[in-house]
Amino acid sequence: MSTLSLLLVTAAMSAVMLLVLSSLSRSEVKGIRCWARANWLAVLALPLFAGRGVLPDLISIELANGLYLWAIATMLVGFRSHLGVPTGARALAACAVLALGALTILHYVIESFPLRVVVASLFHGGSTLAIGLAVRRALGKAPARYPYVFTSVAAFGLASGHAVRAAVSLAQHAGVAPLFDAATWTLIFFSLGTLAMPLLTLGAVMMANADIVARARYAADHDYLTGAWSRRAFFNLAEHERARATRSGAELSVLLFDVDHFKRINDTFGHAVGDRVLEDIVRRTASVIREADCCARLGGEEFAVLLPDASIETASAVAERLRDALAHSPLLLQPAVVVAYTVSIGVARLEPGESITALLCRADRALYLAKAAGRNVAVCAAAACDAEDALCEHPAPMTLAVSQVLAGDQQL
Ligand code: GH3
Ligand code: MG
Ligand code: MG
Repeated sequence: MSTLSLLLVTAAMSAVMLLVLSSLSRSEVKGIRCWARANWLAVLALPLFAGRGVLPDLISIELANGLYLWAIATMLVGFRSHLGVPTGARALAACAVLALGALTILHYVIESFPLRVVVASLFHGGSTLAIGLAVRRALGKAPARYPYVFTSVAAFGLASGHAVRAAVSLAQHAGVAPLFDAATWTLIFFSLGTLAMPLLTLGAVMMANADIVARARYAADHDYLTGAWSRRAFFNLAEHERARATRSGAELSVLLFDVDHFKRINDTFGHAVGDRVLEDIVRRTASVIREADCCARLGGEEFAVLLPDASIETASAVAERLRDALAHSPLLLQPAVVVAYTVSIGVARLEPGESITALLCRADRALYLAKAAGRNVAVCAAAACDAEDALCEHPAPMTLAVSQVLAGDQQL
């Protein structure tokens, strides 16, 4: 394939990449705009390179090189902003201007093609190396490994190619006989230079896609207001832990709790303060439970905590710790507004062969008893439950048995 067709095919590939990037333009993924801008610059630069001999040198060499240097630097800025690291845009712009100045001097003053190639390769190699390093450093926190590994390997590969290209051109400048004929080197290095944008853009699109999937998954699994696990995630985790407990014979317990007289808080302080209380509850609950436990907002002002490997005694102790922590740490708001609140808690441990729905049903009955007992108490559910999958919103008190009332010496 001639260098001319290679340049035109790559320009077409960059145009296709632009279409792919446009499909992601409303995704709010950081870096997308820079990546799109970089491909626009490449689409403009590559046909100018192809016009060498037909167009004036100032356009087919200086302008084309300037646009392509700008394109690769913009690609680097896009990756850095996507990864949330300082972009160094000004320093990069200064380097690009210096490189373009050097290219112009080496064309019109010193007139050395090999040295021009060295300068361009150093800029492109340095930029792709910086992309590889930034992406490699972010691998530990990557939402998906493959896009990051692909991009860093591609960037390091391109950087190595540019290093070889610079070395070969320097040797050529020094008069050392080349390993292959000049045409072969030209084709290899043209392929390298022209493939850079499509390859890096492919990596960028894969990284953007991984980011979108991770954000969608987070939104589905977390409550928007409090950041607690969502109802959906809670049931998935609970089913997973139930299967594990059944296999291994481990215990599994759950706390179900509800803010006492929450309507009054909303009515007295307003809905916004009510929201702050809900956020406060999740924050404080996280400080009372272990990392392996899962706190979820099931709806309104009702929360659940899943406690893997926890006996009923352990779960009761956690419930009491939580009740006490919330009751004794009122929320301090500006200006000098103190919101004291309490919660009532139902505690239940998974029985052999029991479903998660039935477990929560028993915890809900215990919570109902805690409310009936005057609130701000934790109550353990009885082991037995007659109607496993019955609707539990209005349980009949006669069907309930309380094994423990943990706060205030109250008896039911
Ligand atoms: P009880 O002690 O019996 O639980 O009394 P309560 O006032 O908490 O009773 P109830 O469960 O009926 O009231 C729940 C209130 O929670 C009603 C609803 O307006 C409010 N609520 C539900 N979701 C939100 C929310 O996201 N933010 C705020 N601020 N309030 C909410
Ligand atoms: Mg309530
Ligand atoms: Mg409620």
